[in-house]
Amino acid sequence: MTRFSESVRKYEALCEQNDVPAETVMAYLVELTQRERYNLYMNFEEEMPAELEAEFDKGMERILKQEPMAHVLGYSWFYGYKMIVNGDVLIPRPETEELCAQILARIDEFFPDYEKVECADVGTGSGAIAIAVALEEPKVVMHATDISEEALVTARQNAEINGAEIDFTAGDMLEPLIAQGRKLDVLISNPPYIPADEQMEKSVVDFEPHVALFGGSDGLYFYRKIFERCRELLKEKAFMAFEMGWDQRERMSRLVEELLPEAKYEIVRDMNGKDRMLFVYFNLERKDS
Ligand code: GLN
Repeated sequence: MTRFSESVRKYEALCEQNDVPAETVMAYLVELTQRERYNLYMNFEEEMPAELEAEFDKGMERILKQEPMAHVLGYSWFYGYKMIVNGDVLIPRPETEELCAQILARIDEFFPDYEKVECADVGTGSGAIAIAVALEEPKVVMHATDISEEALVTARQNAEINGAEIDFTAGDMLEPLIAQGRKLDVLISNPPYIPADEQMEKSVVDFEPHVALFGGSDGLYFYRKIFERCRELLKEKAFMAFEMGWDQRERMSRLVEELLPEAKYEIVRDMNGKDRMLFVYFNLERKDS
């Protein structure tokens, strides 16, 4: 029999030796027990139930080999919603929650009197963005595409468990939406944007789908594809919202100015102060800028 405190201390030390953040241990225990952190600490000298201990040991063994905790659990949390994740989809990142919040604020600002706001999420992956935006703003009619049929299986499950109505289509980038003749108020994408030769952590490269990560030699391949054809999809007044790499401000600005000279745009920082979001406006003015 092992006390909670002993087991947690043991794994925190092992995490440090294995290049895994030590916070992962408590985060994993909170999820496994479905107990609040303070509650665990209050009973830290109690013995762990045998079944919990066995599961915790098994999971921690995988986590110590750099497997993401979300894969061990089979889910992660995004905007307060539970999202099933696996090797077919990118694990939703906290930065992407900020993208959703910023999109929702702009929908309120630009389209306050619309009954319906037509949106699409291109390269939806787990469906996290599409689902969060659709659930948070009932006016939204959400279409979502992904080239990966496997990803769409997970995205559909996520829409179902969260009660979101999303119209999913398999296909390459904007193509399925153009073929359907959609006209959008909002086009959203968190495309793969890591430059092909970038060195990344083992927990990402070994476990997450490369089709969702790498965006050509400069990381901008998919933005270019979207900028070239987005006009076919957008209504006259519309905006686009993207996640982007923190070091792409200059190249991204040049790309927008070159391919979408008539649009206005802004690059917004995330909570870590890094350039992370791009908004492109067509015939829309922001009040505070
Ligand atoms: N932000 C992710 C990462 O750093 C990449 C997401 C993406 O390419 N869209 O792993």
